[in-house]
Amino acid sequence: MQYYSLNNQSPYVDFKVATINGQAPDKGLYFPKSIPQLSKNWIDDIENKNNEQIAFDVIKPFVGDVISTVDLQKIVNETINFEMPLVKITDNIFSLEMYHGATLAFKDIGARFMSRCLTHFVKDSKKKVTVLVATSGDTGGAVANGFYNVEGVEVVILYPSGKVSSVQEKQLTTLGSNIKALEVNGSFDDCQAIVKQAFLDTEINNHLFLTSANSINVARWLPQQFYYFFAYKQWKQLYKTEPIVSVPSGNFGNICAGLLAKVSGLPIKHFIAACNANAVVPNYLVTQKYEPQKAIPTISNAMDVGNPSNFVRIMQLFQHQFESVKNNITGYKVSDDDTRKTLLEVYKNEKYLLDPHGAVAYNALQDYLQKNLTEKGFIVETAHPVKFYDVVEPIIKEKIILPYAIEEIMHLPKKSILVEANFEEVKQILLSNTV
Ligand SMILES: *Cc1c(COP(=O)(O)O)cnc(C)c1O
Repeated sequence: MQYYSLNNQSPYVDFKVATINGQAPDKGLYFPKSIPQLSKNWIDDIENKNNEQIAFDVIKPFVGDVISTVDLQKIVNETINFEMPLVKITDNIFSLEMYHGATLAFKDIGARFMSRCLTHFVKDSKKKVTVLVATSGDTGGAVANGFYNVEGVEVVILYPSGKVSSVQEKQLTTLGSNIKALEVNGSFDDCQAIVKQAFLDTEINNHLFLTSANSINVARWLPQQFYYFFAYKQWKQLYKTEPIVSVPSGNFGNICAGLLAKVSGLPIKHFIAACNANAVVPNYLVTQKYEPQKAIPTISNAMDVGNPSNFVRIMQLFQHQFESVKNNITGYKVSDDDTRKTLLEVYKNEKYLLDPHGAVAYNALQDYLQKNLTEKGFIVETAHPVKFYDVVEPIIKEKIILPYAIEEIMHLPKKSILVEANFEEVKQILLSNTV
Protein backbone atom coordinates (compact mmCIF):
# COMPACT_ATOMS: atom_id res chain seq x y z
CA MET A 1 0.00 0.00 0.00
CA GLN A 2 1.17 3.47 -0.86
CA TYR A 3 0.28 6.53 1.21
CA TYR A 4 0.08 10.10 0.03
CA SER A 5 -0.15 13.35 1.94
CA LEU A 6 -3.54 15.05 2.04
CA ASN A 7 -1.66 18.31 1.40
CA ASN A 8 -0.48 16.73 -1.88
CA GLN A 9 3.02 18.18 -1.63
CA SER A 10 4.97 15.09 -0.51
CA PRO A 11 6.08 11.91 -2.27
CA TYR A 12 4.24 8.60 -1.90
CA VAL A 13 5.60 6.41 0.89
CA ASP A 14 5.01 2.85 2.13
CA PHE A 15 3.55 1.87 5.49
CA LYS A 16 6.96 1.77 7.14
CA VAL A 17 7.91 5.32 6.18
CA ALA A 18 4.41 6.61 6.97
CA THR A 19 4.66 5.08 10.46
CA ILE A 20 8.14 6.41 11.15
CA ASN A 21 7.35 9.89 9.82
CA GLY A 22 3.98 10.18 11.56
CA GLN A 23 3.11 13.22 9.47
CA ALA A 24 4.15 13.92 5.87
CA PRO A 25 6.96 16.48 5.29
CA ASP A 26 4.37 18.97 3.97
CA LYS A 27 2.55 18.62 7.35
CA GLY A 28 -0.35 16.77 5.74
CA LEU A 29 -1.89 13.56 7.06
CA TYR A 30 -1.07 10.35 5.25
CA PHE A 31 -3.93 8.62 3.46
CA PRO A 32 -3.97 5.23 1.66
CA LYS A 33 -3.85 5.42 -2.13
CA SER A 34 -6.80 3.04 -2.42
CA ILE A 35 -9.37 1.60 0.00
CA PRO A 36 -9.18 -2.22 0.12
CA GLN A 37 -12.52 -3.96 -0.46
CA LEU A 38 -13.57 -7.02 1.53
CA SER A 39 -15.53 -9.61 -0.42
CA LYS A 40 -19.14 -10.39 0.42
CA ASN A 41 -18.10 -13.98 1.13
CA TRP A 42 -15.53 -12.82 3.63
CA ILE A 43 -18.15 -10.70 5.44
CA ASP A 44 -20.82 -13.44 5.31
CA ASP A 45 -18.38 -15.89 6.85
CA ILE A 46 -17.15 -13.54 9.59
CA GLU A 47 -18.58 -15.51 12.52
CA ASN A 48 -16.46 -18.50 11.51
CA LYS A 49 -13.23 -16.52 11.78
CA ASN A 50 -11.43 -15.85 15.01
CA ASN A 51 -10.50 -12.26 15.91
CA GLU A 52 -6.81 -12.82 15.14
CA GLN A 53 -7.70 -13.85 11.60
CA ILE A 54 -10.15 -10.98 11.12
CA ALA A 55 -7.68 -8.37 12.30
CA PHE A 56 -4.91 -9.81 10.15
CA ASP A 57 -7.08 -9.83 7.00
CA VAL A 58 -8.21 -6.26 7.66
CA ILE A 59 -4.76 -4.75 8.23
CA LYS A 60 -2.66 -6.81 5.79
CA PRO A 61 -3.47 -4.76 2.64
CA PHE A 62 -2.59 -1.55 4.52
CA VAL A 63 0.77 -2.87 5.69
CA GLY A 64 1.80 -4.55 2.45
CA ASP A 65 5.08 -6.43 2.52
CA VAL A 66 7.06 -4.17 4.87
CA ILE A 67 6.31 -6.63 7.71
CA SER A 68 6.38 -10.38 7.11
CA THR A 69 3.19 -12.41 7.52
CA VAL A 70 4.55 -14.18 10.59
CA ASP A 71 5.64 -10.95 12.28
CA LEU A 72 2.43 -9.11 11.39
CA GLN A 73 0.29 -11.91 12.79
CA LYS A 74 2.31 -11.75 16.01
CA ILE A 75 1.89 -7.96 16.24
CA VAL A 76 -1.86 -8.29 15.61
CA ASN A 77 -2.28 -11.02 18.23
CA GLU A 78 -0.48 -8.96 20.87
CA THR A 79 -2.51 -5.86 19.93
CA ILE A 80 -5.93 -7.42 20.50
CA ASN A 81 -4.98 -9.36 23.56
CA PHE A 82 -8.01 -8.34 25.67
CA GLU A 83 -11.80 -8.72 25.75
CA MET A 84 -14.01 -6.38 23.66
CA PRO A 85 -17.51 -7.56 24.49
CA LEU A 86 -20.73 -6.18 23.02
CA VAL A 87 -22.92 -5.83 26.10
CA LYS A 88 -26.68 -5.35 26.08
CA ILE A 89 -27.94 -2.26 27.95
CA THR A 90 -31.55 -1.99 26.71
CA ASP A 91 -33.63 -3.66 23.99
CA ASN A 92 -32.15 -1.44 21.33
CA ILE A 93 -28.86 -0.15 22.76
CA PHE A 94 -25.67 -2.15 23.26
CA SER A 95 -22.23 -1.10 24.47
CA LEU A 96 -19.01 -2.16 22.80
CA GLU A 97 -16.73 -2.14 25.83
CA MET A 98 -13.34 -1.05 24.60
CA TYR A 99 -11.84 -0.56 28.04
CA HIS A 100 -10.53 -3.94 29.09
CA GLY A 101 -6.97 -3.24 27.93
CA ALA A 102 -3.90 -2.24 29.95
CA THR A 103 -4.79 1.45 30.40
CA LEU A 104 -8.59 1.04 30.39
CA ALA A 105 -9.33 3.02 27.21
CA PHE A 106 -9.79 2.14 23.53
CA LYS A 107 -6.52 3.87 22.72
CA ASP A 108 -4.70 0.74 23.87
CA ILE A 109 -5.48 -0.84 20.48
CA GLY A 110 -3.87 1.87 18.38
CA ALA A 111 -1.00 2.40 20.80
CA ARG A 112 -0.19 -1.30 21.11
CA PHE A 113 -0.21 -1.80 17.36
CA MET A 114 1.82 1.31 16.64
CA SER A 115 4.43 0.66 19.33
CA ARG A 116 5.01 -2.87 18.05
CA CYS A 117 5.28 -1.75 14.42
CA LEU A 118 7.69 1.03 15.30
CA THR A 119 9.79 -1.29 17.44
CA HIS A 120 9.88 -3.73 14.53
CA PHE A 121 11.00 -1.00 12.13
CA VAL A 122 13.75 0.47 14.31
CA LYS A 123 15.13 -2.68 15.85
CA ASP A 124 18.11 -2.85 13.48
CA SER A 125 18.80 0.87 13.41
CA LYS A 126 21.64 2.29 15.51
CA LYS A 127 19.80 5.54 16.20
CA LYS A 128 17.57 5.80 19.23
CA VAL A 129 14.01 6.86 18.49
CA THR A 130 12.31 9.46 20.66
CA VAL A 131 8.54 9.31 20.65
CA LEU A 132 7.21 12.76 21.50
CA VAL A 133 3.56 13.00 22.35
CA ALA A 134 1.11 15.54 23.74
CA THR A 135 -1.85 14.11 25.62
CA SER A 136 -5.18 15.30 26.96
CA GLY A 137 -5.16 12.16 29.12
CA ASP A 138 -5.65 8.75 27.56
CA THR A 139 -3.13 8.78 24.72
CA GLY A 140 -0.20 9.32 27.06
CA GLY A 141 -0.99 6.32 29.24
CA ALA A 142 -1.64 4.02 26.29
CA VAL A 143 1.56 5.09 24.53
CA ALA A 144 3.63 4.87 27.72
CA ASN A 145 2.32 1.40 28.36
CA GLY A 146 2.88 0.29 24.77
CA PHE A 147 6.54 1.40 24.72
CA TYR A 148 7.45 0.67 28.34
CA ASN A 149 10.91 -0.93 28.51
CA VAL A 150 11.17 -1.22 24.72
CA GLU A 151 14.85 -1.04 23.86
CA GLY A 152 15.97 1.75 21.53
CA VAL A 153 12.87 3.87 22.18
CA GLU A 154 12.55 6.84 24.53
CA VAL A 155 9.11 8.27 25.20
CA VAL A 156 8.51 11.90 26.22
CA ILE A 157 4.94 12.81 27.14
CA LEU A 158 3.67 16.35 27.60
CA TYR A 159 0.49 16.71 29.61
CA PRO A 160 -1.40 19.74 30.95
CA SER A 161 -0.91 20.07 34.70
CA GLY A 162 -4.13 19.67 36.68
CA LYS A 163 -6.22 18.92 33.57
CA VAL A 164 -6.04 15.13 33.44
CA SER A 165 -7.86 12.76 35.80
CA SER A 166 -5.94 11.35 38.76
CA VAL A 167 -5.93 7.83 37.27
CA GLN A 168 -4.67 9.17 33.95
CA GLU A 169 -1.89 11.10 35.69
CA LYS A 170 -0.71 8.04 37.61
CA GLN A 171 -0.66 6.00 34.40
CA LEU A 172 1.61 8.60 32.81
CA THR A 173 3.96 9.33 35.62
CA THR A 174 4.61 6.14 37.55
CA LEU A 175 6.32 3.91 34.99
CA GLY A 176 9.76 5.54 34.84
CA SER A 177 12.44 3.67 32.86
CA ASN A 178 12.29 4.91 29.24
CA ILE A 179 9.13 6.97 29.87
CA LYS A 180 9.48 10.66 30.80
CA ALA A 181 6.48 12.77 31.75
CA LEU A 182 6.67 16.54 31.36
CA GLU A 183 3.97 18.26 33.37
CA VAL A 184 3.21 21.47 31.51
CA ASN A 185 1.87 24.52 33.29
CA GLY A 186 -0.70 25.20 30.55
CA SER A 187 -3.43 23.62 28.41
CA PHE A 188 -3.49 20.62 26.06
CA ASP A 189 -3.31 23.07 23.13
CA ASP A 190 -0.05 24.45 24.63
CA CYS A 191 1.36 20.90 24.84
CA GLN A 192 0.40 20.19 21.25
CA ALA A 193 1.92 23.48 20.05
CA ILE A 194 5.23 22.65 21.76
CA VAL A 195 5.28 19.19 20.16
CA LYS A 196 4.59 20.67 16.72
CA GLN A 197 7.39 23.20 17.17
CA ALA A 198 9.81 20.45 18.22
CA PHE A 199 9.16 18.63 14.95
CA LEU A 200 10.13 21.77 13.03
CA ASP A 201 13.25 22.56 15.08
CA THR A 202 16.47 21.84 13.16
CA GLU A 203 18.69 21.56 16.21
CA ILE A 204 16.45 18.99 17.90
CA ASN A 205 16.11 16.98 14.71
CA ASN A 206 19.88 16.98 14.21
CA HIS A 207 20.36 15.36 17.59
CA LEU A 208 17.31 13.14 17.93
CA PHE A 209 15.28 10.87 15.72
CA LEU A 210 11.83 12.18 16.62
CA THR A 211 8.51 10.57 15.87
CA SER A 212 4.98 11.22 17.05
CA ALA A 213 2.40 8.88 18.50
CA ASN A 214 -0.68 11.03 18.08
CA SER A 215 -3.69 9.68 16.21
CA ILE A 216 -2.52 11.25 12.98
CA ASN A 217 -0.08 8.32 12.70
CA VAL A 218 -1.50 5.68 10.33
CA ALA A 219 -0.25 2.89 12.59
CA ARG A 220 -2.48 4.23 15.35
CA TRP A 221 -5.43 5.13 13.16
CA LEU A 222 -5.83 2.02 10.98
CA PRO A 223 -5.94 -0.76 13.63
CA GLN A 224 -8.92 1.02 15.20
CA GLN A 225 -10.97 -0.62 12.47
CA PHE A 226 -10.51 -4.00 14.16
CA TYR A 227 -13.12 -3.64 16.84
CA TYR A 228 -15.85 -2.51 14.45
CA PHE A 229 -15.38 -5.88 12.74
CA PHE A 230 -15.34 -7.76 16.06
CA ALA A 231 -18.51 -5.93 17.08
CA TYR A 232 -20.24 -6.72 13.82
CA LYS A 233 -19.35 -10.40 14.22
CA GLN A 234 -21.18 -10.39 17.56
CA TRP A 235 -24.04 -8.24 16.22
CA LYS A 236 -24.66 -10.52 13.24
CA GLN A 237 -25.39 -13.40 15.56
CA LEU A 238 -28.19 -11.36 17.19
CA TYR A 239 -29.82 -9.31 14.44
CA LYS A 240 -30.27 -9.33 10.69
CA THR A 241 -30.47 -5.53 10.45
CA GLU A 242 -27.36 -3.39 10.29
CA PRO A 243 -26.46 -1.46 13.46
CA ILE A 244 -26.38 2.29 14.08
CA VAL A 245 -23.02 3.04 15.73
CA SER A 246 -22.49 6.00 18.06
CA VAL A 247 -18.88 7.07 18.62
CA PRO A 248 -17.80 9.63 21.23
CA SER A 249 -15.57 11.85 19.13
CA GLY A 250 -12.77 14.35 19.75
CA ASN A 251 -10.03 14.17 17.16
CA PHE A 252 -12.28 11.90 15.02
CA GLY A 253 -9.66 9.17 14.56
CA ASN A 254 -11.88 6.49 16.06
CA ILE A 255 -15.02 7.25 14.03
CA CYS A 256 -12.89 7.75 10.90
CA ALA A 257 -11.56 4.19 11.33
CA GLY A 258 -15.14 2.93 11.62
CA LEU A 259 -16.10 4.82 8.47
CA LEU A 260 -13.10 3.36 6.67
CA ALA A 261 -14.30 -0.13 7.67
CA LYS A 262 -17.76 0.72 6.32
CA VAL A 263 -16.35 1.96 3.01
CA SER A 264 -14.33 -1.30 2.83
CA GLY A 265 -17.57 -3.26 3.04
CA LEU A 266 -18.46 -3.65 6.72
CA PRO A 267 -22.28 -3.60 7.06
CA ILE A 268 -22.93 -0.66 9.37
CA LYS A 269 -26.04 1.33 8.63
CA HIS A 270 -25.09 4.73 9.96
CA PHE A 271 -22.64 6.51 12.26
CA ILE A 272 -23.32 9.05 14.95
CA ALA A 273 -20.54 11.51 15.79
CA ALA A 274 -21.31 12.21 19.44
CA CYS A 275 -19.58 15.35 20.67
CA ASN A 276 -19.60 17.47 23.81
CA ALA A 277 -19.58 21.29 23.64
CA ASN A 278 -16.76 20.96 21.11
CA ALA A 279 -19.05 20.44 18.15
CA VAL A 280 -17.17 21.72 15.12
CA VAL A 281 -18.07 18.67 13.02
CA PRO A 282 -21.76 18.42 14.06
CA ASN A 283 -21.99 22.12 13.16
CA TYR A 284 -20.39 21.41 9.80
CA LEU A 285 -22.94 18.64 9.13
CA VAL A 286 -25.68 21.25 9.47
CA THR A 287 -24.15 24.40 8.00
CA GLN A 288 -21.61 22.86 5.59
CA LYS A 289 -19.08 25.27 7.10
CA TYR A 290 -16.03 23.96 8.94
CA GLU A 291 -15.07 26.48 11.59
CA PRO A 292 -12.37 25.39 14.08
CA GLN A 293 -12.73 26.80 17.58
CA LYS A 294 -10.70 27.07 20.73
CA ALA A 295 -11.27 23.92 22.80
CA ILE A 296 -13.88 24.25 25.55
CA PRO A 297 -13.21 22.27 28.78
CA THR A 298 -15.92 19.68 29.61
CA ILE A 299 -16.40 16.62 31.84
CA SER A 300 -15.63 14.36 28.86
CA ASN A 301 -12.16 15.87 28.54
CA ALA A 302 -10.69 13.41 26.01
CA MET A 303 -13.04 14.99 23.45
CA ASP A 304 -12.13 18.61 24.15
CA VAL A 305 -10.76 19.28 20.70
CA GLY A 306 -11.54 22.43 18.75
CA ASN A 307 -9.95 21.46 15.43
CA PRO A 308 -10.20 17.67 14.94
CA SER A 309 -7.19 16.49 12.91
CA ASN A 310 -8.95 13.55 11.27
CA PHE A 311 -11.75 15.63 9.76
CA VAL A 312 -9.69 15.95 6.54
CA ARG A 313 -9.48 12.15 6.34
CA ILE A 314 -13.26 11.85 6.60
CA MET A 315 -13.68 14.38 3.80
CA GLN A 316 -11.23 12.45 1.65
CA LEU A 317 -12.99 9.16 2.37
CA PHE A 318 -16.18 10.63 0.92
CA GLN A 319 -14.40 12.50 -1.85
CA HIS A 320 -15.39 15.85 -0.40
CA GLN A 321 -19.05 15.24 -1.24
CA PHE A 322 -21.12 16.89 1.49
CA GLU A 323 -24.16 14.72 0.67
CA SER A 324 -22.17 11.49 1.12
CA VAL A 325 -20.72 12.68 4.41
CA LYS A 326 -24.21 13.58 5.61
CA ASN A 327 -25.69 10.25 4.49
CA ASN A 328 -23.14 8.39 6.59
CA ILE A 329 -22.81 10.55 9.71
CA THR A 330 -25.23 12.40 11.96
CA GLY A 331 -23.66 14.82 14.43
CA TYR A 332 -24.76 15.46 18.00
CA LYS A 333 -23.73 18.04 20.55
CA VAL A 334 -24.38 16.94 24.14
CA SER A 335 -24.03 19.34 27.09
CA ASP A 336 -22.32 18.42 30.36
CA ASP A 337 -25.70 18.58 32.12
CA ASP A 338 -27.25 16.09 29.71
CA THR A 339 -24.15 13.89 29.99
CA ARG A 340 -24.55 13.78 33.79
CA LYS A 341 -28.27 13.14 33.49
CA THR A 342 -27.79 10.26 31.05
CA LEU A 343 -25.01 8.72 33.12
CA LEU A 344 -27.21 8.74 36.23
CA GLU A 345 -30.35 7.50 34.45
CA VAL A 346 -28.63 4.59 32.76
CA TYR A 347 -26.97 3.64 36.03
CA LYS A 348 -30.26 3.76 37.96
CA ASN A 349 -32.61 2.28 35.35
CA GLU A 350 -30.39 -0.17 33.51
CA LYS A 351 -27.77 -0.88 36.20
CA TYR A 352 -25.07 -0.03 33.69
CA LEU A 353 -22.29 2.40 34.56
CA LEU A 354 -21.11 4.57 31.67
CA ASP A 355 -18.05 6.80 31.68
CA PRO A 356 -18.67 10.46 30.68
CA HIS A 357 -17.59 9.83 27.05
CA GLY A 358 -19.83 6.78 26.74
CA ALA A 359 -22.67 8.82 28.26
CA VAL A 360 -22.32 11.41 25.49
CA ALA A 361 -22.55 8.63 22.89
CA TYR A 362 -25.52 7.05 24.68
CA ASN A 363 -27.44 10.30 24.88
CA ALA A 364 -26.98 10.86 21.14
CA LEU A 365 -27.89 7.29 20.15
CA GLN A 366 -30.98 7.32 22.36
CA ASP A 367 -32.22 10.48 20.66
CA TYR A 368 -31.48 9.10 17.20
CA LEU A 369 -33.35 5.87 17.93
CA GLN A 370 -36.37 7.76 19.22
CA LYS A 371 -36.57 9.31 15.76
CA ASN A 372 -35.84 6.02 13.96
CA LEU A 373 -37.95 3.52 15.85
CA THR A 374 -37.14 0.41 13.80
CA GLU A 375 -33.38 0.72 14.30
CA LYS A 376 -31.02 -0.66 16.96
CA GLY A 377 -27.41 0.13 17.63
CA PHE A 378 -24.43 0.28 19.92
CA ILE A 379 -22.17 2.87 21.46
CA VAL A 380 -18.41 2.55 21.50
CA GLU A 381 -17.66 2.77 25.24
CA THR A 382 -14.19 4.27 24.99
CA ALA A 383 -13.06 4.24 28.63
CA HIS A 384 -13.68 2.45 31.91
CA PRO A 385 -15.77 4.67 34.24
CA VAL A 386 -13.12 4.27 36.92
CA LYS A 387 -10.70 6.28 34.81
CA PHE A 388 -12.95 9.26 35.44
CA TYR A 389 -14.01 8.50 38.99
CA ASP A 390 -13.41 12.17 39.89
CA VAL A 391 -16.36 12.97 37.56
CA VAL A 392 -18.47 9.82 37.93
CA GLU A 393 -18.59 9.40 41.72
CA PRO A 394 -20.22 12.80 42.44
CA ILE A 395 -22.89 12.03 39.79
CA ILE A 396 -23.91 8.60 41.10
CA LYS A 397 -23.06 9.55 44.71
CA GLU A 398 -21.31 6.22 45.20
CA LYS A 399 -17.73 5.11 45.38
CA ILE A 400 -16.41 3.08 42.47
CA ILE A 401 -14.25 0.14 43.37
CA LEU A 402 -10.85 0.47 41.74
CA PRO A 403 -9.63 -2.56 39.81
CA TYR A 404 -6.50 -4.03 41.39
CA ALA A 405 -4.17 -2.82 38.63
CA ILE A 406 -5.32 0.78 39.23
CA GLU A 407 -5.38 0.51 43.01
CA GLU A 408 -1.74 -0.53 42.79
CA ILE A 409 -0.52 2.42 40.73
CA MET A 410 -2.49 4.95 42.79
CA HIS A 411 -0.01 4.27 45.61
CA LEU A 412 3.10 4.75 43.47
CA PRO A 413 4.90 8.10 43.58
CA LYS A 414 4.35 10.49 40.68
CA LYS A 415 7.54 11.19 38.73
CA SER A 416 7.16 14.21 36.47
CA ILE A 417 9.27 17.16 35.38
CA LEU A 418 7.39 20.44 35.86
CA VAL A 419 7.85 22.85 32.97
CA GLU A 420 6.34 26.13 31.84
CA ALA A 421 4.39 26.19 28.56
CA ASN A 422 7.56 27.34 26.89
CA PHE A 423 9.20 25.68 23.92
CA GLU A 424 12.80 26.62 24.84
CA GLU A 425 12.49 24.97 28.24
CA VAL A 426 11.21 21.73 26.72
CA LYS A 427 13.88 21.88 24.03
CA GLN A 428 16.64 22.06 26.63
CA ILE A 429 15.24 19.00 28.36
CA LEU A 430 15.00 17.11 25.06
CA LEU A 431 18.61 17.96 24.21
CA SER A 432 20.03 17.30 27.68
CA ASN A 433 20.95 13.91 29.05
CA THR A 434 17.93 13.81 31.26
CA VAL A 435 15.96 12.31 28.36
C1 LIG B 1 -9.41 9.82 22.80
C2 LIG B 1 -10.72 9.55 23.39
C3 LIG B 1 -11.93 9.84 22.69
C4 LIG B 1 -11.93 10.54 21.35
O1 LIG B 1 -11.43 9.72 20.32
P1 LIG B 1 -11.01 10.39 18.93
O2 LIG B 1 -10.43 9.28 18.12
O3 LIG B 1 -10.00 11.44 19.25
O4 LIG B 1 -12.24 10.97 18.32
C5 LIG B 1 -13.13 9.50 23.27
N1 LIG B 1 -13.18 8.91 24.49
C6 LIG B 1 -12.06 8.63 25.19
C7 LIG B 1 -12.20 8.01 26.52
C8 LIG B 1 -10.79 8.92 24.66
O5 LIG B 1 -9.70 8.64 25.37
